[in-house]
Amino acid sequence: MEEKIVVGAGLAGLTAAINLRREGYEVRVLERRDGIGGPARDLPTGELTYVMADGTPMQPERIAAYTGIDVSPACEPLESARVYSFGKRFDAFFPKNVPAYLVERGSRQASLDMYLYRLAVEEGVRFEFNVPLKTRRDFDGLPPRSILATGLFREAYQVLEIPFVPVYGLFGQGMTDEGYAGPKVILYMDRYTWDYAFFSTIHGIAGALLFQRKRPLSEEAKRWFPEQLARDEGIEFPEWYELDVGVLPMGSFSNPRLFHDRFILAGTLAGAQDPVLLFGVHGALVTGKIAAMAVDRPEEAYREFRRANLFWRMSYLNRRAIEITFPWGLKVASRAGFGLYPLYAPFALRYAFLVVPGWLRI
Ligand SMILES: Cc1cc2nc3c(=O)[nH]c(=O)nc-3n(C[C@H](O)[C@H](O)[C@H](O)COP(=O)(O)OP(=O)(O)OC[C@H]3O[C@@H](n4cnc5c(N)ncnc54)[C@H](O)[C@@H]3O)c2cc1C
Repeated sequence: MEEKIVVGAGLAGLTAAINLRREGYEVRVLERRDGIGGPARDLPTGELTYVMADGTPMQPERIAAYTGIDVSPACEPLESARVYSFGKRFDAFFPKNVPAYLVERGSRQASLDMYLYRLAVEEGVRFEFNVPLKTRRDFDGLPPRSILATGLFREAYQVLEIPFVPVYGLFGQGMTDEGYAGPKVILYMDRYTWDYAFFSTIHGIAGALLFQRKRPLSEEAKRWFPEQLARDEGIEFPEWYELDVGVLPMGSFSNPRLFHDRFILAGTLAGAQDPVLLFGVHGALVTGKIAAMAVDRPEEAYREFRRANLFWRMSYLNRRAIEITFPWGLKVASRAGFGLYPLYAPFALRYAFLVVPGWLRI
């Protein structure tokens, strides 16, 4: 049977590879790193890679029905999140009709990335590690209709001229004490970043990231977040690192895109990410499936893709409004969003989550 190439062994690439294999193709995945790890990367200071917990609205049983992959063993229900909006604290509890989950990302055995990798190997997908595609020539060497799922890494955007914005970060990581009973997810929205900062913990590992799109963080911001986290929550990390988080396809109103150049795109590279709160796990799984479908059924896949990302532009405009009106726009939006949450929670499943890429499709 014909061989298909998938570039990138992250959530979208692995989902696409498993689905193509099930359709009977030989599948080879090319991955730049020496193993699985998704968005995790080497920090400039050495070999340490960052491992994170991503929070996402998700209905695992519906994802399973759509993608053919039961991700539930790698998902942990998330019952609440704590939010600090310009100093005001909100505790948001997620009732049953707000299905929120945490997934570990990175190269440890319990991560969603590793879970999908094990499934892919069982299905007979072949992997080639240490194959970073960097130049136009590297991409030209791929067969037409190869699937590109290279996530937040910049090479594919640059070579294929997909508009992007850079993301700058400050990152701390450590293990949680066994007795840790604090919130699993804490978000900070404040005047120091027009995005946000977050702490998350899963399976004994904890990480915190302050990040900002488009322009580097100020020195004041880099001092503020570690101090604030220690003061509010007693959470401290031995070291903090400046991190090149990567790039996001939010440089243009015309994203997302399923077909580009000679290729099929999936996951973050395809723009399957909510531009405001960056829910991308869901979109990566759904568009991984759609990318596999696009190999044989491009028109049907295109319809699916458009529907999966129907609210992207609305969300993009929200994002622009927050940037233009920053900081008070962010203050009003975050306080209203989290303050009114108990009122709209009963309708979240039906209405509020429509902006999550893929939500409407599955
Ligand atoms: C700051 C931040 C916070 C986020 N928080 C959340 C969250 O809480 N919840 C959520 O749902 N989403 C979150 N996201 C989004 C989420 O991380 C992504 O949507 C998700 O990882 C997308 O999966 P993917 O398969 O597209 O890419 P990835 O999982 O990143 O996989 C890409 C793979 O491609 C490989 N690769 C890259 N370039 C090349 C190349 N040139 N050649 C070969 N291989 C290559 C990489 O090594 C990697 O293995 C966040 C994003 C950011 C930036």
